[in-house]
Amino acid sequence: MTVNVAIDGPAGAGKSTVAKAVAAKLGYIYVDTGALYRAVGLYALNNGIPTDSAELVGDCLKDITVELKFSELGQQVYLNGENVSSLIRTPEASMAASNVSAIPAVRAFLFDLQRNIAKENNCIMDGRDIGTVVLPDAQVKIFLTASPETRAKRRYDELIAKGAEVDYQDVLADLIQRDYNDSHREAAPLRPADDGVIFDNGDYDFDASVAKVIEIIEEKIK
Ligand code: C5P
Repeated sequence: MTVNVAIDGPAGAGKSTVAKAVAAKLGYIYVDTGALYRAVGLYALNNGIPTDSAELVGDCLKDITVELKFSELGQQVYLNGENVSSLIRTPEASMAASNVSAIPAVRAFLFDLQRNIAKENNCIMDGRDIGTVVLPDAQVKIFLTASPETRAKRRYDELIAKGAEVDYQDVLADLIQRDYNDSHREAAPLRPADDGVIFDNGDYDFDASVAKVIEIIEEKIK
């Protein structure tokens, strides 16, 4: 049986950077499920499909293939054969992902892909509904969170470091909007799993967050 660690939480809590480092230390693969929703959102954006239309987005799923590949570069996401790993990282793709992720047909479309990876690999999978819906039997479930201001500052620093021209207030407003969308949607809303551990890492730096997550995992699977 494989070891599955679910890490859920709101945008900017550091899920991906922390989970990636923890996975490297434990020798597990790191699966970023947000990339899947971003890829579907990107397809809609590129094809002029309104990302909040359940009907139109639902219709276009038949034209989409999304794949994840794992290499020494980490996870790469392919949309209809094209590596879109960088293209999905824009603020527009974030909002598009948030919109399409509320559509049940999109969630159903991406479900098996996530389940199959977890069945075949020891993995740390991050997202919004991993502990509650995708991997309800995961041995470890962590809900990683911090205040909206802390998360927005981290996201802002990350975007600036990549050379993006962004405004902190816009990043904060965007994040609050996505938090609201994610936790108020009917399909798989963002919430901690009943049997999960809530970890507020607002006062933890990166290394301390990684160490704490490893401690939680080791405690659960020992
Ligand atoms: O994690 P990331 O910010 O890349 O996710 C982009 C969007 O995809 C989130 O705002 C959320 O709406 C959606 N998402 C989701 N379920 C997941 C992962 C991401 O609904 N498991």
